Amino acid sequence: MKILVVASEAVPFVKTGGLGDVVGALPKPLARTNHQVKVFLPRYEKLNTGYCHVGKLGWSGTISINEKKHSLSVEHCRDKRLPLEFYFIRNHHFFDRDELYIDKKTNRDYADNDERFIFFTRGVLETVTALDWRPDIIHVHDWQASLIPVYVKTLYKEEGFFSQSKTVLTIHNLAYQGTFDSERFGAIGLPEAMFYATSPFEFYGKVNFLKAGIVYADKITTVSRRYAEEIQTDELGCGLNGVLSQRKEDLVGILNGVDYTVWSPSRDKKIPYTYHLANLSGKRMNKVELLRRFSLPVRDRAPLIGVISRLADQKGLDLFAEIADKVLAMDVQMIILGTGDDKYHQIFREFETRYPDKFRACLTFDDDLAHWIEAAADMFLMPSQFEPCGLNQMYSLKYGTVPIVREVGGLADTVEDFKPETGQGTGFVFQDYSPEALLDTITRAVQTFGKRRIWTKIMKSGMRKDYSWDRSAHEYAELFGKLNNMKND
Ligand code: ADP
Repeated sequence: MKILVVASEAVPFVKTGGLGDVVGALPKPLARTNHQVKVFLPRYEKLNTGYCHVGKLGWSGTISINEKKHSLSVEHCRDKRLPLEFYFIRNHHFFDRDELYIDKKTNRDYADNDERFIFFTRGVLETVTALDWRPDIIHVHDWQASLIPVYVKTLYKEEGFFSQSKTVLTIHNLAYQGTFDSERFGAIGLPEAMFYATSPFEFYGKVNFLKAGIVYADKITTVSRRYAEEIQTDELGCGLNGVLSQRKEDLVGILNGVDYTVWSPSRDKKIPYTYHLANLSGKRMNKVELLRRFSLPVRDRAPLIGVISRLADQKGLDLFAEIADKVLAMDVQMIILGTGDDKYHQIFREFETRYPDKFRACLTFDDDLAHWIEAAADMFLMPSQFEPCGLNQMYSLKYGTVPIVREVGGLADTVEDFKPETGQGTGFVFQDYSPEALLDTITRAVQTFGKRRIWTKIMKSGMRKDYSWDRSAHEYAELFGKLNNMKND
């Protein structure tokens, strides 16, 4: 099959979160099974192009938005071994900025995010047409690429170039929908008459890119089975549960995989000491060095709790903040790596002052340090309010860093609560979104940490789990295959 992938980030080029990991990893197993894959990304100024030689495509064009013409050029590179290519949609005005989505000066979304991703998605379709490459499957990710299924069935329908292409929209996080004021609808380039109350684009009087994608895509996937159910409920449907329920026959949950070439303690190049199931001594050495780096005392009996997270309400850190004093009264140490909301920056800075020999907050984005914390910590805390899939808990399992998670979304699908009666389990899981439930669970984990034999068994049970991409990629390939067959019916 010819598979076109469209997203706003992909490792190793650019990443702000799990989306980048997924879009970077999934094409490889698909290309390895001889599908032809072309991945399209915006050409941000900040793009890590070290992975392959990026050159200019000898084609350029223009995209009109509200009758203003914007120039489009395209850069391109290919994987050395696989039938896998990357294309970067370039426009200096739209993409040469400090951040991907947010204006650092105001800490708000760029005011023209709609135009930026209208330009991007139209640019993708124009480029693919110019290349005369007719995709069987168009796999788009999140609101930034959600207009593609719409365009294929509207603006680009008459040309017929995509008439045999099937579209799949993957939702990585329903909380981010791409909503804009209604007067901006014209920028999309469709007749104004298509925007009315209850139209696919309309959401409480605003324009909603993700909603339109959900209505127009042939299939919708999300990143865990549990989340596929949760987003059809009032509680976690972010206002789109009605639309999603209407499409439930076409909505599938496929758990993200982990790229174990990047996230595996036995071959991780970013950690001081590698280790594996049969010999965990490297893990202890990573811990000792990390504690030294942060000038924390080395205390073997005290579990080191790690957090690597966007500092957003979604991640449940408000729950932790409420009980932090009680947690830090126990014999534990904590290192938090994250950036995000100012309120969390302030809270964690304060804990650092209050608990100088127990708590450190590193309020930056640092991929190397993220690997090291995974390798060094004894426990990993992820008490999310909601969690579409979550990657860090899966990394943690592989690194023998026992996860403490809430039973929600992908966390529920991947971490099994430890039961002392049976000795089975890979982590510590709680249900109620309450500080008390979290405190009980951390206490349970800290007490169990004292029982070394049992603790090592929990660590090893987690390390044996396999959440590799091959399994997830197989599920995507099956879904794509079914869709592809439908077009021949
Ligand atoms: P989300 O996509 O909601 O942010 P995930 O757990 O799915 O959450 O993925 C987060 C990814 O981003 C992981 O790879 C994690 O290691 C990484 N990450 C998050 N915050 C940081 C940070 N401050 N520094 C380095 N990596 C981070």
